[in-house]
Amino acid sequence: MSPHETPADLAGSEMDRALRPQTLDDFTGQAEARANLRVFIESARKRGEAMDHTLFYGPPGLGKTTLAQIVSRELGVNFRMTSGPVLAKAGDLAAILTNLDARDVLFIDEIHRLNPVVEEVLYPAMEDFELDLVIGEGPAARTVRIDLQPFTLVGATTRLGLLTTPLRDRFGIPTRLEFYTVDELVKIVERGARLMDTVPTPDGAREIARRARGTPRIAGRLLRRVVDFAIVEGDGTVTQQLADRALTRLGVDDLGLDGADRRYLRLLAENYGGGPVGVETIAAALSEARDAIEEVIEPFLLQQGLIARTPRGRMLGHKAWTHLGLAPPRRAEQ
Ligand code: ADP
Repeated sequence: MSPHETPADLAGSEMDRALRPQTLDDFTGQAEARANLRVFIESARKRGEAMDHTLFYGPPGLGKTTLAQIVSRELGVNFRMTSGPVLAKAGDLAAILTNLDARDVLFIDEIHRLNPVVEEVLYPAMEDFELDLVIGEGPAARTVRIDLQPFTLVGATTRLGLLTTPLRDRFGIPTRLEFYTVDELVKIVERGARLMDTVPTPDGAREIARRARGTPRIAGRLLRRVVDFAIVEGDGTVTQQLADRALTRLGVDDLGLDGADRRYLRLLAENYGGGPVGVETIAAALSEARDAIEEVIEPFLLQQGLIARTPRGRMLGHKAWTHLGLAPPRRAEQ
């Protein structure tokens, strides 16, 4: 547990794990990605070879880690997990690679944050299943080549654009994950509720799904909170009215936006007349990291047409003005 995590967060992440679908059939949504993966998994199994390296990219909470685990389970191989920032030295990665069994899946989360020295080690490992290790220092240094078992690297990133080209090119199966539709999220909420031994009414499930920012992780979190309210303040049933009341109290509005989203939109509206504003300026004004803005806040606002990205910066869309209950300046009305 990191110092910033409360026991409740931890219970939440344990629940996250419990809610993870275990098979491709159990996984809702991402139909195209799923159909393709099914073919690649089947083919690798028939050939008895490692599946090609796969890259999942898209906003947080859409199921990248879950899919990576499913891939390894369906391939019938071990799943090893690490992340870009954790691999500080080339030796850290070498230790993991040399311990892999044939055809294993190695999952590297936040792969855009790999140290360049570590990334160099990854190239020959991915391409030829070889490791070039430098032993010793200075004039006595020499390189030894170690053969690795063939393996599948599954990388995940929220920021495809930050991947170096050589790394990106080494993934045979790049897969973009999309925001989920409300209907898909309804299924995910209903499945999660079943696992929590509650049965929401159909419009109760839909209310949570509608306000989950297109994201299964958020749907799971909102479901848990709404169930808390249902148990304490209702008779345990998640109805639409109860879900609406609970979500409003949690600061999740009718479009599913939370406080951070609204602060972002209001900043653009009230301080910059709707933009364009550069992302650095927005980050500074909101005291948020630029990464968090680009990875967490903006993708959903863009997808919803609440903002637009232009070469000169971010602009507020019409829908955002209406949502904030403000009149757009004349320029935006044209
Ligand atoms: P990412 O790695 O993209 O951040 P995760 O794979 O960790 O996302 O998924 C976040 C949570 O959402 C997990 O707890 C998982 O149970 C749930 N989840 C993700 N995708 C689905 C899905 N398609 N169906 C059901 N639950 C899902």
